[in-house]
Amino acid sequence: MVLRMSRLMVTTLRDAPADAETLSHKLLVRAGYVRRSSAGMWSWLPLGKRVLDNVARIVREEMDAIGGQEVLLPALLPGETYEATGRAQEYGDLLFRLTDRKGAGYVLGPTHEEVFTLLVKDQVSSYKDLPLILYQIQAKYRDEARPRSGVLRGREFLMKDAYSFDTGEEGQIAAYRAHREAYVRIFRRLGLDFRIVSAVSGAMGGSDSEEFLAPAAAGEDTFADCPACDYAANTEAVTFTPPPAADEGHGAPTELDTPDTPTIEALAAHLGVPAAATLKNLLVTVDGEITAVGVPGDREVDLGKLAEHLAPATVALVTAEDFARRPDLVRGYVGPQGLDLPYLADPRVAPGTAWITGANKPGRHAANVVCGRDFTVDRYLDVVTVRSGDPCPNCGAGLSLGRAIEIGHIFRLGTKYTDAFGVDVLGPDGTPVRVTMGSYGIGVSRAVAALAEQTADEHGLCWPAEVAPARVHVVAAGKAAQAELAEQIADRLHAAGVTVLLDDRTGVSAGVKFTDAELLGVPRILVAGRRAAEGVVELRDRRTGEREDLPVAEALARLT
Ligand code: ATP
Ligand code: MG
Ligand code: MG
Ligand code: MG
Repeated sequence: MVLRMSRLMVTTLRDAPADAETLSHKLLVRAGYVRRSSAGMWSWLPLGKRVLDNVARIVREEMDAIGGQEVLLPALLPGETYEATGRAQEYGDLLFRLTDRKGAGYVLGPTHEEVFTLLVKDQVSSYKDLPLILYQIQAKYRDEARPRSGVLRGREFLMKDAYSFDTGEEGQIAAYRAHREAYVRIFRRLGLDFRIVSAVSGAMGGSDSEEFLAPAAAGEDTFADCPACDYAANTEAVTFTPPPAADEGHGAPTELDTPDTPTIEALAAHLGVPAAATLKNLLVTVDGEITAVGVPGDREVDLGKLAEHLAPATVALVTAEDFARRPDLVRGYVGPQGLDLPYLADPRVAPGTAWITGANKPGRHAANVVCGRDFTVDRYLDVVTVRSGDPCPNCGAGLSLGRAIEIGHIFRLGTKYTDAFGVDVLGPDGTPVRVTMGSYGIGVSRAVAALAEQTADEHGLCWPAEVAPARVHVVAAGKAAQAELAEQIADRLHAAGVTVLLDDRTGVSAGVKFTDAELLGVPRILVAGRRAAEGVVELRDRRTGEREDLPVAEALARLT
């Protein structure tokens, strides 16, 4: 394929949009890859669409390689299915909601766990039909509060979402591993630098999850990395064992009989409260004691019992109602009016949330803010306050912190969704078996921006070969002789199956063409210039800037 600059809809801009803060936002707009349609909504122009398709192709190939079957479900979904799992509430304002002419409620899918679960309920009846991996590459919709950073955070964005269905724990683990490995291959092929870190599952639910993070200054996530062991976690998911501190009256924690983080069930039994139903959102780390407990929206936990088991320096999130019942346990409170404090940006902190805190951890969490009311907010959740140099929870070495872009997220969901919709298959002995699930997302459009962030330089974009909109950018720099040679070379490359971006514009100076070539970021630039008459061209490497004069035949041999 030969893409002719003379015909292509690509307008390069000297200046970035005034509101653009990140490098990828500036460059993707300046290079004419994307164009803002409305807040958080982006149009992909010809060159951008080619990069997006290349990313999607790589994702597709690796998903197919692990046995994924591609499908396409509607983006417009019945609201009641999201009510049934509680996610309508969990997502809250993030959900785009609509009403049809008959008054029925719909949502634009933010991810599709519910409808995939229902599809499988409808289609699959026997254990013989499992394991099953389904995926789609589709626009997702989230009414992000501050859609900034261009396609890094859109309100409409392209996601690859996959769902695995198995019987039993083992199958679920195998599917999770297969996806994890596929993601490693995908991000390597894309040419992204990435880390795999422990993560918080958030609105998706399930037992545990990992994120794929692409280190970049523009990232909105912070991760902690241990230089001495393989520990790496989103700071949201880092939990510390508090240092010994004076107990301020909540009683010493009794130890659970387990050296590891306990299951919710074990913890619930220990606290003497009903299991999964009431404690499913608990966030716990135990190393002899409970260090952080979150009970968002929970009604049934006995606060007295809970408090008995809280170590000094623990934080528990409770609802305003709980606070009203046991104000004696609450040392800090954030009212629904909100305060401009960093922890209020944490998605787990709902308006109307009260806080119970134990003793202060000396030296950390200095947020001593007096609310207009009578309460003092003296600290906040450990999980959002990791500092560089804090001890690694694994080995004690000083953690280093980095900013990164979340490019993928994989979840073990267990039976959260199959319980909600009662999805069983008939097992080998004829009795019903509950189906287990995993879900696995990649931000396809975000990956394009992440790549731009990691690879661009002061001259512009600089794509890895596999995702570049073309393999070679041929520049006709001169008059008729140069133009003719450039055409011939483009033809030969095309015949050899190489995609070419040909700058065949007339009336545009060579200097402007070179500047544009650097901005557009095709990895190899071939210039038919001064020595065209001798049959010599210049081959440039966009990344290193190296230039070499070569006879045409040799240049072609290198490029095909
Ligand atoms: P973030 O923390 O950045 O808001 P998320 O954790 O809400 O992302 P997931 O629900 O895990 O996102 O969705 C799976 C993937 O979809 C993410 O890993 C990310 O790559 C991508 N993604 C999520 N939100 C957006 C968005 N607004 N724009 C572009 N890509 C997104
Ligand atoms: Mg989000
Ligand atoms: Mg996230
Ligand atoms: Mg995520």
